Amino acid sequence: MSLNVYIDVLATRIIKTMKTTSIFQIMIIIMTTSTASVNAQPSAGPFQLTPLTYAYNALEPYIDAQTMEIHHSKHLAAYVTNLNNAIKGTEAEKLSLLEIMANTKKFDMKVRNNAGGVYNHDLYFASFSPKGGGQPTGDLAAAIDAAFESFDNMKTQLNNAGLARFGSGWAWLYVTPERKLAICSTPNQDNPLMDIAEFKGIPILGIDVWEHAYYLKYQNKRADYLNAIWNVISWEEVARRFAIAK
Ligand code: MN
Repeated sequence: MSLNVYIDVLATRIIKTMKTTSIFQIMIIIMTTSTASVNAQPSAGPFQLTPLTYAYNALEPYIDAQTMEIHHSKHLAAYVTNLNNAIKGTEAEKLSLLEIMANTKKFDMKVRNNAGGVYNHDLYFASFSPKGGGQPTGDLAAAIDAAFESFDNMKTQLNNAGLARFGSGWAWLYVTPERKLAICSTPNQDNPLMDIAEFKGIPILGIDVWEHAYYLKYQNKRADYLNAIWNVISWEEVARRFAIAK
């Protein structure tokens, strides 16, 4: 399947399956596994701040409480507010987050940046657990071995993708159109679900390499943050996304 064909297939799949199957389920999983542990002001608009399922200090010492609190209650909250403001009065007001991301070319950069900001951070925060770390098992472990030869190679490649990202962006583990695992990096708040993405697919793990994700604890040492984060990845959650996306 050529890339352009895949883009069309994926976009169609995203829109067609919104109400029933895989992509929509990913969103449901990501959006509804939370229990309210944070009191947030409701945002005026269709999109809302997703509460965390764990306390701000739950990922210590790997991600510090102050970073988590600012990242979630200020940065993510701002993406939610700014997205609601950016779509006001536009066609995007009636669309889901996935539909917006599949059609970013139709909208201005504020919509693209803030829709990505909301999706990426919901995925990111839901990827962690204080009981995380270790290695995946089962189908996900087998797919990682098939794509990268070993779990350690996958980690190294994802860390390198994050390190190589100049400025702000994300490193992704994602399922390709051929239903294989791959790694890529995107700038700013872009992601592989977007119509404008160079590498397209369904993300199952995204690592935020904006400085706001690590600077308070790690300062300029992005590599130390990337090495530490594996201690709190919930492979159970990533495996669940993989089972839906593959
Ligand atoms: Mn961030």
